[in-house]
Amino acid sequence: MKDDQLTPGRRLVLRAAAALGAAAAAGCTATGGQDAPGPTAPSGAPAAGPPARRALKPSAYRLQPMAGYGPPRSARVLPRVRKAPILRVDGHDRSMVLTFDDGPDPRYTRPILRTLRRYDVRAMFFVCGEMAADNPDLLREMADDGHLIGNHTWSHPLLPKLKRSTMREQMERTCDVIEDVTGEPPAWFRAPYGAWNRNAFQLGAALGMEPLAWTVDTLDWTEPGARAIVRRVRAGAGPGVVVLSHDAGGDRSGSVDALRTYLPELLESGYRVTVPGRYAT
Ligand SMILES: [Zn+2]
Repeated sequence: MKDDQLTPGRRLVLRAAAALGAAAAAGCTATGGQDAPGPTAPSGAPAAGPPARRALKPSAYRLQPMAGYGPPRSARVLPRVRKAPILRVDGHDRSMVLTFDDGPDPRYTRPILRTLRRYDVRAMFFVCGEMAADNPDLLREMADDGHLIGNHTWSHPLLPKLKRSTMREQMERTCDVIEDVTGEPPAWFRAPYGAWNRNAFQLGAALGMEPLAWTVDTLDWTEPGARAIVRRVRAGAGPGVVVLSHDAGGDRSGSVDALRTYLPELLESGYRVTVPGRYAT
């Protein structure tokens, strides 16, 4: 990852983010609201994921001067700031979305990619920046296979406990490593543990990302075994359902094995396993 340089596209987004932050701060003052309303769990789902990993190392690259770069690669339309994450996708054609969080981890991500390739389906990977930086080849493989790579922060912290600047760095650095490796910035963001607050929604939108939670939690992070994971996917399957699984953060062999069973079942039942398009505001 290049820490000494800011890509032109990112700078454009940052400028928009600064403007948005100022507007949001003004709005907050006007309404007298609290800055951080605290974490919310989508659809009553328990907080998911492994404990936070090592702390984010300080980085000096944000201190680089903004002048001296060429014009931005493309002007990006920023999504609106939501008050809640998206829990499901448009399922009128019986589409379902499979998501894998916390990776990439070669032990589990690689066989998951193989299974997805075998059935020629696309999925979403919400990667942590520090894992992505350690495994750029897996990130490239995901992108080459047409999977969507989302931002799951740098080191998986509980966002509502962070001050805004730290949260921003967690999200921004992860955007940068994804863009540096794949050439595309992420369009989706997912808060670790499903713990969102207003700063997370504001910063995500300012960085060009929509917030996606999930409809069905396989609870695979509790390592219940493949059969239990398959049962939960079967029970929760439905049009527009977003399934949460993990490809890192613990022993994920159950998640790997379960996919080999439930993916062909879903396809045989007439589901289209796919990825969402960008949500226009
Ligand atoms: Zn996670």
